[in-house]
Amino acid sequence: MIGWNLIVQRNEGAALTGGWRKVAVVGGGPAGLFLARLIRMARPAVSVDVYERNAPDEASGFGVVFSARTMSELRRNDPETHARIVAASVAVSDMELRHPRATLRYGGFDFSSISRRALLLILREQAAKAGATLHFGKLVAPGSLDDADVVVYADGANSSHRDVDPERFGTSVRHGSSPYMWLGTHAPFDAATFAFVETEHGHFAGHAYPYADGMTTVVVETDPGTWKASGMDRAGDFSRNPGGSDEEALAQLGEIFAEHLGGHPLIGNRSRWSTFRTVHNERWSEGNAVLLGDAAHTAHFTVGSGTKMAMEDAISLAAALQRNTDPGPAFAEYERERRGPVARTQEWAEPSMRWWETFGRRLHMAPAQFGLHFMTRTSALSYEGLRRRFPDRVDEAEAAYRTSGGAAGAAPAAAAVDLRPNAVTEPLLLGSVRLRNRLVEVLPEDCGDREAAVRAAEARGAALVLARQRPGLSLGLPVPPHPEPAAR
Ligand SMILES: Cc1cc2nc3c(=O)[nH]c(=O)nc-3n(C[C@H](O)[C@H](O)[C@H](O)COP(=O)(O)OP(=O)(O)OC[C@H]3O[C@@H](n4cnc5c(N)ncnc54)[C@H](O)[C@@H]3O)c2cc1C
Repeated sequence: MIGWNLIVQRNEGAALTGGWRKVAVVGGGPAGLFLARLIRMARPAVSVDVYERNAPDEASGFGVVFSARTMSELRRNDPETHARIVAASVAVSDMELRHPRATLRYGGFDFSSISRRALLLILREQAAKAGATLHFGKLVAPGSLDDADVVVYADGANSSHRDVDPERFGTSVRHGSSPYMWLGTHAPFDAATFAFVETEHGHFAGHAYPYADGMTTVVVETDPGTWKASGMDRAGDFSRNPGGSDEEALAQLGEIFAEHLGGHPLIGNRSRWSTFRTVHNERWSEGNAVLLGDAAHTAHFTVGSGTKMAMEDAISLAAALQRNTDPGPAFAEYERERRGPVARTQEWAEPSMRWWETFGRRLHMAPAQFGLHFMTRTSALSYEGLRRRFPDRVDEAEAAYRTSGGAAGAAPAAAAVDLRPNAVTEPLLLGSVRLRNRLVEVLPEDCGDREAAVRAAEARGAALVLARQRPGLSLGLPVPPHPEPAAR
């Protein structure tokens, strides 16, 4: 979709700089560094300066994951950088769910993970190799780079350049409710592992995935009540130690997750409690300034997509700049191209964030049921999709659901579909309408005789029938759902 190979071919030996010759990038994270490389490779006559407030070895966080799809997109656009990232990554294919009463394993999810520090080192070297000028230890004040033809705000989710005037880009930021902390450990893990621990104060969850030999990332989450009750809200004062970690919390969490860490401590890297900020911007550019990566948008870390989006933004913006003489139309093309994929990722991330904010409410479930809930928390994997990949696990979950009494009073089997009692067969009160089950059928626009189509859907067991309406894909309710006045 993004024609990087094309750009390189068109520009060999050329110095077509159009109306922009000087690019200033605020922020030496994945977005800013990768963009700097791509622009320099496409237009060697353009000067690109990247300003990073930290020293080169001061990366925050631990490892990040990339899906196989992200890696192949990277290979297509920059084979050399891709090869270096692959060489520094570890492959992970299984997910392990450590429920307090059982451990479940789900295999076959191809992704790789890499140390954030190693990734940034590669991206720095690749940017410098392409001729970008990197300035470290340079905290850039808003407005100070305005004389460049293109100013890129790649200064992260808390972008101070963007936030000078929230109206400028139509910025909105929503804070998640769950405190989390990004940590590391030398404890060995051979799968992306999700450990759930019950304590006297409430529940804690840890996401752990290996990202290098002997190194594992651990992100710990809890709910605000547990956080306060456990005393972890009383973090120290970091004003005298801005690079420090919340050592008391580290020690306490080390004890809480001791069983999973096998005697290894948790390691901090500027690790403190935080809440996730979901960033949206109505506009991604204004004048000669353009937002990139986390400054433009964020998606909860449990869908592991922030770095991927940052790098895809860089690919798209570099290609759009290459295609246009003036930055304005290039910014518009970049935003048009990236809005859709970013919105889809944010749509996945939203329910995932809610799931993690409320995981404690589901720990009473049987492990297989809990697993089903976890695996299908976003639309990326449906109930049917999970069944295709892990039929035994889904059977187990349904059996647990039936024996837990969850399906008591469920509807009897319908005519044409297998509606053995399970979650879908539970009645549902939707406003004032009681549906006999939760099976919904959506009629296509060209369903012909709608009355007949509704009757056929009913015969298949649907309690609610929706029809697509023109224009676009909006859903309507042209037929009354089945009212069921008699309570079960
Ligand atoms: C707990 C956690 C886990 C995550 N795991 C994953 C994962 O597995 N996979 C994934 O794809 N993503 C993950 N992410 C998201 C990922 O870290 C970010 O989306 C990604 O780093 C965004 O890159 P960026 O370049 O846009 O911003 P950043 O990485 O935030 O870089 C911005 C840079 O700008 C610099 N800066 C800021 N202000 C100034 C200034 N005024 N002057 C100069 N420099 C400045 C900062 O120092 C920083 O280096 C995770 C995030 C969190 C919080």
